[in-house]
Amino acid sequence: MEILYKSTRGTGKSITASQAILQGLSEDGGLFVPDSLPKLALSFEELSEMSYQETAYEVMKLFLTDFTEEELKYCIAHAYDEKFDTEEIAPIKKAAGAYYLELFHGSTIAFKDMALSILPYLMTTAAKKNQVKNEIVILTATSGDTGKAAMAGFADVPGTKIIVFYPKNGVSPIQEKQMVTQKGGNTYVVGITGNFDDAQTGVKKMFNDREMAKELSAAGYQFSSANSINIGRLVPQVVYYVYAYAKLLKAGEIQTGEKINITVPTGNFGNILAAYYAKELGVPVGKFICASNENKVLYDFFETGCYDRNREFMLTSSPSMDILISSNLERLIYRIGGNDPDKNRSMMDSLAKTGKYEITEEMRQNLKEFYGNYASEEETAETIKKIYEDTGYVLDTHTAVAACVYEKYKAQSGDSTKTVIASTASPFKFTRSVMNAIDEKYDALTDFELVDKLSQIGGVKVPDAIEEIRTAPVLHDRICTAEEMPETVKKILGI
Ligand SMILES: *Cc1c(COP(=O)(O)O)cnc(C)c1O
Repeated sequence: MEILYKSTRGTGKSITASQAILQGLSEDGGLFVPDSLPKLALSFEELSEMSYQETAYEVMKLFLTDFTEEELKYCIAHAYDEKFDTEEIAPIKKAAGAYYLELFHGSTIAFKDMALSILPYLMTTAAKKNQVKNEIVILTATSGDTGKAAMAGFADVPGTKIIVFYPKNGVSPIQEKQMVTQKGGNTYVVGITGNFDDAQTGVKKMFNDREMAKELSAAGYQFSSANSINIGRLVPQVVYYVYAYAKLLKAGEIQTGEKINITVPTGNFGNILAAYYAKELGVPVGKFICASNENKVLYDFFETGCYDRNREFMLTSSPSMDILISSNLERLIYRIGGNDPDKNRSMMDSLAKTGKYEITEEMRQNLKEFYGNYASEEETAETIKKIYEDTGYVLDTHTAVAACVYEKYKAQSGDSTKTVIASTASPFKFTRSVMNAIDEKYDALTDFELVDKLSQIGGVKVPDAIEEIRTAPVLHDRICTAEEMPETVKKILGI
C-alpha cells in the first residue's frame, strides 16, 4: 500500500514520503502527515527475535513506501552502527518499578541521535530519487543539543553540508565544547552575538529569502532543514517503541497482547507522537503519559482543552523541554479533529495571532488516551536523588521529569499497567544538575571532576562522547552578528 503525505493545513496535493522529507515543512505552514497508517506485517513474536536494524526496516517501510528495500536498508545500516555504544541501540533498564528505554547511546548521548543519525541518509537518498542535483545545505539554529546531534549525523555524509548557528553566550560550556570540536569536512559552526531567538529568526529569514535561494542554486546548493517536524525525524522514532514492546515480550516481562503505558518527557511533542503512531501500527498501549517541566503548557492543555502559550518562559534544569509551542502537537490536533485541514488551520492561525486556541468537547473525547502532568524543579531533583538512593540508577533531568510524572499518575489513577519510560538523555550530559540533586556538596567540583564522580557513584563508564571532548582540539571559531548570518553562509559556501 502506498502512503502519501499531505499538509495538516492545506487542501494541496499529496506528495511522496521522499518529497516530504526533502521539503520538511509544507508551503502553507502545515506539517506533513501520512494519509493512512498500515498495521505491522509481523507478529510481536517474530519481531522479538529481530535486531534493532531489522525492526527499523519493518517499521520504516510502512511509512516510507517510495523507498526501495535496498535504499532503506542502506540508510538503516549507516545510521545504527558503531556510532552507538551498544549493539542493542536502545536497551531497556528495569528500575524503580518501570522500564527505562535508554535512547541515549548514540554519538551525542541524547535521544535526538535516534533520528538525526538516519535523517542525512534518508535525505540524500530522497534527493537522488527526486533527481535533485544540488548539494544539500542544512541550516540549523540551536540552543545547544540539536545542533550538535545534527552535525554528528551529517558529518562527512556525501552530498551535504551543515551550518549550525548557536548563541555565543547562551549554551553550557560542555555544549559549546561539543560543538566547536565537531569533526567532519562538511560541518560549520558559528557563534552569534545574540540569543537563540536571534539565531532562529536569522535562519528562518534565509529559508524564506528567494534571492538567496537563486544564488545558491546557481552555485549548486539548496537549503534544507533538520528540525523535528520533518517526517524523516518522526518515522525513525516510531521504531524504538515497537522494538521495546517486542523486547519486553522476549524477556518475559509482558504477555502477548498485554497493554503497556508509555511515559515521555515532552517538549516539541515529537517523541510522544511517535509513540502514538506506534500504537496505530499495532503496539498495545493503554495510556500515553505526557510529562512536562515547569513550562507546563501541555499539562494545562490536557486539563482544560485550551492551549495557551501566553505565560512566562521558565529556564529549567531540563532545557530540551523548555518550549512553549510544541510544534508536533499540530499533527495530533489535526487527527483528533477528524483530519480536517480547515478546522486545524483556524486553530493554528489563532495560536499565531493570540497565542492560544481551544479544542472542541468532541476533540477532547478523542484525547482520553493521554494523561498530562508536570514536575517542578524541586520534584525533579528529589526524583533523581530518590531513585539513585533506592536503586543506584542515575537519571538525567529530563528523564527524572518523566519518572516524577509517572509516580503522580500511578498515585492518582491506581493503574498498575507496566510502563515504559522514554529515557532521553544520559546523566553525563547534564552532570551538574544531576550531581547537585544527589548531593549539594558536589557543586564545588569542576565539570570534568563531576563527570568522574558520576561515573564512580553510578558505576557507569564515562561515555566516549564526553571522553572525547576533554582533549579534543577546537576546530571552529567563527563568530558573527545576527545581521551577518547570510553573508557568513555565502562565505562558507564560497559564493
Ligand atoms: C528534545 C528532547 C526532549 C523533548 O522531545 P520532544 O520530541 O521535543 O518532545 C526531551 N528530552 C531530551 C533530552 C531532548 O533532547
